[in-house]
Amino acid sequence: MKTEIYRQLDREHHLHPFTDYKALAEEGSRIVTRAEGVYIHDSEGHRILDGMAGLWCVNLGYGREELVEAASEQMRQLPYYNSFFKSTHPPAVKLAETLCRLAPAHMNHVFFTGSGSEANDTVLRMVRRFWALEGKPDKQWIISRENAYHGSTVAGMSLGGMAPMHAQGGPTVPKIAHVRQPYWFGEGRDSEPEAFGRECAAALEARIHELGEENVAAFIAEPVQGAGGAVIPPASYWPAVRDVLARYDILLVVDEVICGFGRLGEWFGSQHYGLEPDLMPVAKGLSSGYLPIGGVLVGDRVADTLIERGGEFFHGFTYSGHPACAAVALKNLELMQAEAIVERVRDDIGPYLAKRWATLGEHPLVGEARSLGMVGALELVADKAAARRFPKSLGVGNLCRDICFDLGLVMRSVGDTMMISPPLVITRDEVDELVRLAGEALDETA
Ligand code: PLP
Repeated sequence: MKTEIYRQLDREHHLHPFTDYKALAEEGSRIVTRAEGVYIHDSEGHRILDGMAGLWCVNLGYGREELVEAASEQMRQLPYYNSFFKSTHPPAVKLAETLCRLAPAHMNHVFFTGSGSEANDTVLRMVRRFWALEGKPDKQWIISRENAYHGSTVAGMSLGGMAPMHAQGGPTVPKIAHVRQPYWFGEGRDSEPEAFGRECAAALEARIHELGEENVAAFIAEPVQGAGGAVIPPASYWPAVRDVLARYDILLVVDEVICGFGRLGEWFGSQHYGLEPDLMPVAKGLSSGYLPIGGVLVGDRVADTLIERGGEFFHGFTYSGHPACAAVALKNLELMQAEAIVERVRDDIGPYLAKRWATLGEHPLVGEARSLGMVGALELVADKAAARRFPKSLGVGNLCRDICFDLGLVMRSVGDTMMISPPLVITRDEVDELVRLAGEALDETA
């Protein structure tokens, strides 16, 4: 079918996620037809460097035959069966064992889901169930952070801290509170970064007091907040948060949907920050995005209670641990180990990206260039010396994003924060190309 026909049918029939439908109908969609390595190709013959690894997920890059083979082999053998009603199947069992081996030592169980959103729905129910079984049914409040993204299901968006999402289709799930994010460039420049990190942890403690510590079940956060703007917390933040939670016996849920599977240079972002989560929702990089799969890794404390005292847990999805998805995830983890992808991010390509990305900080339009592992952000500013933002109405971030695309690079914008999260297999030459294209896009935006 010709590009224009696709575009027309897309306009007429396809409601895209997170999209202003009228605006899209006017502009029309870019039609992506194939991909290999770190590049996507569109229907008009453009080759575009995917600086976002799809949606923070194609960690091993595109075109990995081994993953295609794993899916087709499993589909021939057993395309579907569930793990309800006393059944199981080899791919789910092997994946559960592998995940628990890679996870922090105290995490020995996993509950499979079809996505990160479903993983966070599972978290919400598990956390409240856990405290009820512990004889503390009042412990129901879950504290999250402003501007966090934890998914688009009702529980996921309620746990998330994105006000525009809360405003549509509510009400949100009760007993979820939000505290400030450790976003120094955006919200903390009156203090030094480390002092600001401690202030954010203090704000969490104050909120716990307000709600009553006996009523607070859990705190949920990403190690590095992804969709909210690649917010890398000051070093003081996580140790201070960990101390606060320990003081009041509040569960720690670390959302690893983006940071898991090597993105920060460890298997899980928790390990980078020395955290011992009670629960870890995962998805995305688990299968490098080749098939949809997510899950919740469950620490011994919660798992022991659920298993020993819980009876039946009335929760699950038709596609929990789907055989083909699990087989692909398993192969993905096998390849990551064989190719030492996590070590590569930590010791080689992550530091290289950091060095090259930092050079963009010299651009007159950039107030801050930050990165950790394979996540990076640029803060666009109107006045570099004063770190003054552009008026929101100008939409400078979206303009820069569109210019990037036209130049052959996918970067994402939230407000005037530009973000990258490239495939973990990106080469040094490709990093150079990414940084060059980002620089050209900044020049054109200025
Ligand atoms: N949690 C985080 C941190 C995410 O970034 C996302 C998706 O971007 C989700 C949860 C939801 O995952 P999914 O889109 O697979 O439902």
